Amino acid sequence: MQVFKFGGASVKDADSIRNVASIIAKYQQEKLLVVVSATGKTTNRLEEVTESYFDQKGDYHALLAKIKEEHQHVLEELFPDKTSPVFDDVANSFVEIDWILEEEPQDSYDYLYDQIVSIGEIVSSKMLAAYTASLGIKIRWIDARDYIFTDNNYREAVVDWDKTEDKINKDLPSILDNEIAITQGFIGSTSENFTTTLGREGSDYSAAIFASCLNVQDIIIWKDVPGVLNADPKWFDPTELIPELSYTDAIELTYYGATVIHPKTIKPLQNKKITLNVRSFLNPEATGTLIRTTNQGLPVPSFIFKVNQVLVNIQPRDFSFIVEDNLSHIFNTFHSHRIKVNMMHNTAISFSVSIDDTGKNVEDLLEELNKRYKVSMEKGLELITIRYFNQETIDRVLVQKEIIRELKDSYTCQLLVKNKIAE
Ligand code: ASP
Ligand code: MG
Repeated sequence: MQVFKFGGASVKDADSIRNVASIIAKYQQEKLLVVVSATGKTTNRLEEVTESYFDQKGDYHALLAKIKEEHQHVLEELFPDKTSPVFDDVANSFVEIDWILEEEPQDSYDYLYDQIVSIGEIVSSKMLAAYTASLGIKIRWIDARDYIFTDNNYREAVVDWDKTEDKINKDLPSILDNEIAITQGFIGSTSENFTTTLGREGSDYSAAIFASCLNVQDIIIWKDVPGVLNADPKWFDPTELIPELSYTDAIELTYYGATVIHPKTIKPLQNKKITLNVRSFLNPEATGTLIRTTNQGLPVPSFIFKVNQVLVNIQPRDFSFIVEDNLSHIFNTFHSHRIKVNMMHNTAISFSVSIDDTGKNVEDLLEELNKRYKVSMEKGLELITIRYFNQETIDRVLVQKEIIRELKDSYTCQLLVKNKIAE
């Protein structure tokens, strides 16, 4: 039994969906569950709809109409027969958003977000399932909300593992005996049947949940890169493919911000010793990266770059030291503003962190911290993390950069830097 996960880039248009279907076709003799994300940038676009509707600003109906149109266009390319039921099926899913938009927002932003944004996955999975079935493959579309149960912490829902595992084991194995199942990443459901989401980019995590509950041997995450590289090719050249990686290294890399896999994905797989294979949907024969228990994983120095960082320096106003109650208050404040700390450093009287400069919610955070602490900040910085560093790798990234903060442990070095001003 296997689990595949295909992300938004893999289903972004008709040709991409055909390619994914051709990969599924190769595995049709196997027991297979396929998890898919919303197409291309649909999640971002549905976020815009939600924001515009919630603030009652801008033309959210027009934004939604554009998303519908694009899906319709892809469907028309995939299904020359306009009477195919998939047209109605997709249109009906979008109608659920229309119903919400008809009335003024009453519910919380996070709740509305999940009800609206989740439709992206519902429609992409319907399109992929219908197209793959049209090739003569036995396919069953499955609603992930019937299997993944969560609490009601909308937008960052926490999985109820016991309930999820029970339901998956009760129903799915017999379905997978006869058909390939296609379902959605990213979404789940509360015990009252309201839709939840697991956090942005959460489809990898969904695939890991299904894989873990089904006790599969391996899972393949199909990406538009050849596997796990030692740096993002956007920032670094040349990059190197890491053929094999331990779970621990994978957790560390994603924790520090490597975006190739969602950080929550690895742990459930490690617990069950399920091998995670990351490989390219553009070159499906290439083996990519294997993440598994290994002692042989070659320590290839890996680089993670995060631009647009703000260094926030926090000192108590009453000269009390930075002790536990201050720290826990500070962390709670970050948490309530949904801000993730990328690097932290503390001395007896001050605490400093580097965070992504996400604009408005950083300003709100600083305003709140300011009530209790003396807060200063520096913007426009870059955070470079090197796993398995040595002096050569440090020198390599520091060209024309000035170090603001530096943290090192035995394997990992974090450098918060800014560009040197030309003299
Ligand atoms: N579609 C969701 C997102 O873009 C989930 C995912 O892609 O993993 O965040
Ligand atoms: Mg996505």
